[in-house]
Amino acid sequence: MTTIVTQKTWLKTHGYYPFSYFLRENFPVKVHKISIHAGFTCPNRDGFVGVGGCTYCANESFSPNVRETIVPIKEQVEKGMKFLKKRYGAEKFIAYFQAFTNTYADVDTLKARYDEALLNEDVIGLSIGTRPDCITDEILDLIHSYTKKYHVWVEYGLQSIHDRTLQLVNRGHDYKSFEDAVLRTKNKGGIKICAHVILGLPGEDWNDIMETARTVSSLGIDGIKLHHLYIAKNTAMAGDYFKGKIKTMKMEEYVSLACDFLERISPDIVIQRLVGDTHGDFLISPIWNATKGEVFAAITNELKHRNSYQGAKCALSPDLPQP
Ligand code: SF4
Repeated sequence: MTTIVTQKTWLKTHGYYPFSYFLRENFPVKVHKISIHAGFTCPNRDGFVGVGGCTYCANESFSPNVRETIVPIKEQVEKGMKFLKKRYGAEKFIAYFQAFTNTYADVDTLKARYDEALLNEDVIGLSIGTRPDCITDEILDLIHSYTKKYHVWVEYGLQSIHDRTLQLVNRGHDYKSFEDAVLRTKNKGGIKICAHVILGLPGEDWNDIMETARTVSSLGIDGIKLHHLYIAKNTAMAGDYFKGKIKTMKMEEYVSLACDFLERISPDIVIQRLVGDTHGDFLISPIWNATKGEVFAAITNELKHRNSYQGAKCALSPDLPQP
């Protein structure tokens, strides 16, 4: 779908393929995502898979509406639409089931919650964040049923392809279950797949992180969300951080690492997020004193400085000019 011409557009402006460009290529009007907390929990917290959750996870630090009392999904959509229309002139919306594990219920419950988000005709898509070990074929059939009428994404939390890291951060699943979830989702057809990755996890060096880039890219996913490792309050990782067992990166280090990562993934993978997003006063480290826009600009500048771009060192992009 992505053509060399559109690639050149982002090559000149960003050096990577931003989600805003993807949306412009696919929709004639402005489209934005509305974040929803649908009242699900997480099997890695309630004992079904594990307890305590991932060691970096304080869901309220990255899902803004987790901290609020849960209001009906329809109301969350209407509130989000009102805000995004006023702030960005958005006209159509993708309902983003963000908080916790949004496939962690029986199919009837899931259908009722997804349907509620789609009641307003201006909602033209669904994006469902979940764990790769929480997606049965029955649930995939349900999600696939929406593709006839809607733009549909599933976002799988992976963070790293290395099982020793996944164990260390108590993810409660291995790489194989991610690969299996991606392949089963691809087999359904019509569902776009986004992977979440964290750069800078404890115990990982540069080579480990680049291996994650190359491996995830080779699976033919459609999108990726990159996060820098940050330490949030009320997490197991915060304890290790204060004991000096974990380090976080300076902004320049992350910018360089993110560029290395981008160079090694396919230019057809849309970048849905380029840096971790924390809300409120949950952040312990790193404190960069930079806006997200400044981090994006630093990444673009670094790619320009290298005369490089997303996919420049990826075997899957032979028709892009080599730097
Ligand atoms: S990061 Fe996601 S999978 Fe891990 S404990 Fe938090 S909600 Fe659950």
